[in-house]
Amino acid sequence: MAEKVVAALGLGSNMGDRKNQICMALDSLAMHPHISVSAVSALYETPPWGKADQPAFLNAAVLIETDLAPRTLLEAALGIERSLGRVRGELWGPRTIDLDILLYGAAEVDEPGLTIPHPRIHERAFVIRPLADILPGTEIAGQTVAAWLAVLDVSGIETAAAVGWYPVNHPD
Ligand code: ADP
Ligand code: MG
Repeated sequence: MAEKVVAALGLGSNMGDRKNQICMALDSLAMHPHISVSAVSALYETPPWGKADQPAFLNAAVLIETDLAPRTLLEAALGIERSLGRVRGELWGPRTIDLDILLYGAAEVDEPGLTIPHPRIHERAFVIRPLADILPGTEIAGQTVAAWLAVLDVSGIETAAAVGWYPVNHPD
C-alpha cells in the first residue's frame, strides 16, 4: 500500500442548504475507505469572489490522511461534488459544493486539470481563513498560512459557527 500523505482540502457552498452540503461532503470523505479526516476548521461565511453578484459562501477546510495518489484524490473529490448535485455552470458561479485540493503533503503537481498547491490559495481570504485553523504553520509561497492571514483582507468574513460535524467513526 502506498504511503499515507497529509492533505488539505477546501470546501465551499453558496447554493441550497450550504451547511448541510458541507457536512455531507465531510461525511463522504470520512466514509471513503482510503481517506481519514483528522481535523476540520470552523465554518466561515465569506463574500462572493470572482463574480460578485451571487450569494455569500460558506467555506471550511479539512485535513485528511490518504494513500490515494493526487489524481485519484481529485477524482474522489469531483465524485463527491457530483453526488451532492453539483452541476458545472459558469466559471466561478454559484455552486452547491466545491471541493478543492489545497495541499498534498509537500508535493507540487502541475498537470492538465490538476495543480497542487492550488494556485491562488494565498490570494484568497476565504481559503486562508479556514486553512489557518488547521495548518497555521505550513508555508505557502514563501510564508506561513498564519502570516498570509495577517496580510489578507478578511473584513467581509464572519465565523458562522463550529461546523458541528464529527467523523462517522469518531472515538467519542
Ligand atoms: P474552481 O474550484 O476554481 O472554482 P471548479 O471547481 O469548477 O473551479 O474546478 C474546475 C477544475 O479545476 C476541476 O475540474 C479540476 O480539474 C481543476 N483543478 C485543478 N487543480 C485542482 C485542485 N488542486 N483541486 C481541485 N480541482 C482542481
Ligand atoms: Mg473546485
